[in-house]
Amino acid sequence: MKTYTSLSQIQADLQAKQITLPDLIAHYLEKIEKTKHLNIYIEVFAEEALARAKALQQKPENERGKLFGMVLGIKDVLCYAGHAVTASSKILEGFVSPYSATAIERLLAEDAIIIGRTNCDEFAMGSTNESSYYGVTRNAADPDKVPGGSSGASAVAVQAHTCLAALGSDTGGSVRQPAALCGVVGFKPSYGRISRYGLIAYGSSFDQIGTLSHSVEDAALLLEVMAGADEFDSTVSQLPVPAYTSALSFEGKAKIAYFKSALGHEKMDAEVKSQTFQFIQQLEQQGHEVTAIDFDYLDYIIPAYYVLTTAEASSNLSRYDGVRYGYRSPNATNLYETYTKTRSEGFGIEVQRRIMLGTFVLSAGYYDAYYTKAQQVRQLIWQRTKSIFETYDFILMPATPTPAWEIGKLKDDPVEMYLSDIFTVHANMVGIPAIALPLGNNKEGLPIGVQLMANRFEEAKLLGFSQEVHSKKSAV
Ligand code: GLN
Repeated sequence: MKTYTSLSQIQADLQAKQITLPDLIAHYLEKIEKTKHLNIYIEVFAEEALARAKALQQKPENERGKLFGMVLGIKDVLCYAGHAVTASSKILEGFVSPYSATAIERLLAEDAIIIGRTNCDEFAMGSTNESSYYGVTRNAADPDKVPGGSSGASAVAVQAHTCLAALGSDTGGSVRQPAALCGVVGFKPSYGRISRYGLIAYGSSFDQIGTLSHSVEDAALLLEVMAGADEFDSTVSQLPVPAYTSALSFEGKAKIAYFKSALGHEKMDAEVKSQTFQFIQQLEQQGHEVTAIDFDYLDYIIPAYYVLTTAEASSNLSRYDGVRYGYRSPNATNLYETYTKTRSEGFGIEVQRRIMLGTFVLSAGYYDAYYTKAQQVRQLIWQRTKSIFETYDFILMPATPTPAWEIGKLKDDPVEMYLSDIFTVHANMVGIPAIALPLGNNKEGLPIGVQLMANRFEEAKLLGFSQEVHSKKSAV
């Protein structure tokens, strides 16, 4: 079977009866089997996906949903009724979700097929997929390298063609960073564009569902289906959802800013830097205006992000107490021990570190020094970002400072690991949409990505422009 990179290709072949939906599922299942060594899926819904494909195949053509032929992997932080969901944590071992996330329901209503749930960092905390209770996922470009994280396996699932697209979640870059390290398109919408109902919470004022795909077109399509008001999430926007797929182009010349402090950052790898500059040149040749501007807050973003997200996580994760659901320590002899032993045995080291950090920054004596300060930094960054968008259409940033690194390299150095998100966290701090697009490979064959960001709720403009540059780039 062909290697498909967009739903429109699949739908054309289904329509022409070159393939059937069950064939397509069988093809992806075979790919999953062949890539087992990459440890992409925690669970594959093989029989169920095949049965659904057979049933959907019977639908008359005029009744088929928008996502007919869309085969998806979903990150193990999204609730799917009747299926296990663990956030890659021991603490949720054995837990079966009684309901589906709103996003999942909307995808299914349009005839998408979910083929399995993908590995990720525990509770989406991490940048390498190494903190999963189910072991590390490997980068398909080089199995000794990390895929990025936390939606690392969702990125590899797409990279290795085990599904057409995958869902991830992005709190500080978890969709865009692995997308860049695996050479696929990673898209995070504005905060509040997609309902978070049924997404396991990490940092609730940052979390957003995002997509990993080969094409910008599929990112737009999935967004169109998932976005919009939802009575189960009070933070979701009431703004109408534009028809993203029908406006997937960009007229005229764009004004793009990039930060001197980002491209000149000491952490920048030489090849990532040179490929980013080549991309800038390409944009200029196409007539767009690219300007280097000052942005003095880059080095404050990571510390402020880790204060705020750990604070939110310490509160969000308090529900995993061994009483309500999931793992319960068999070694406890009273209620207090049930809490402490369950949490000590059930959470991995990174999650425990963050709960403790978050509890600390919220504690009476330190709240103002850390939490309030970080909120102020967040506000300052938003003011500055907003003012940039008064002049510019987009902000261009590298997606990551370096290509993928060796598995194990940063495992014992959390601060260095946190710094790998230096360019992605900005978009979550201020709730704007951002996309990582593949630029090509470095000399070792490792993928490199670039990132574009737009003002809040300007997804249509961002996706339209991304489509232009991505298709031109792929045509080269
Ligand atoms: N790597 C970042 C963190 O560990 C981002 C994670 C995410 O976006 N879920 O917090």
